[in-house]
Amino acid sequence: MYYKARDKARSNGRQYHLAAILRRNGKVVKIGENTSKTHPRFTRTYADGNISSHMHAEMNVLRFSKPGDELEVMRFNKSGDYVMAKPCTWCMSHILKSGIKRVKYTNEEGDWICLNL
Ligand SMILES: [Zn+2]
Repeated sequence: MYYKARDKARSNGRQYHLAAILRRNGKVVKIGENTSKTHPRFTRTYADGNISSHMHAEMNVLRFSKPGDELEVMRFNKSGDYVMAKPCTWCMSHILKSGIKRVKYTNEEGDWICLNL
């Protein structure tokens, strides 16, 4: 299952390779990667006035989340090694709003860091 998430992340054609896994009662509901696709819910206006709504992997699956779900985030570099996958503050605010109860993300060693919200 994690191999599937990694493959999705690595073949997304983006500079960064992230995969997010949404779980409900331990079962996988959705696997999402970061993408250049946009979604109106996640429009972001930068300080310089540019507007972007590229979906981060977390947002890609948050669209399907229900309160109480768990989120796992993995991030890789181009060679497939783990990179720190801590959700950015922008994603965290969406995660909190969605009522996600636990976030797990991989560090550089590939270990899971667990955040209870
Ligand atoms: Zn993010």
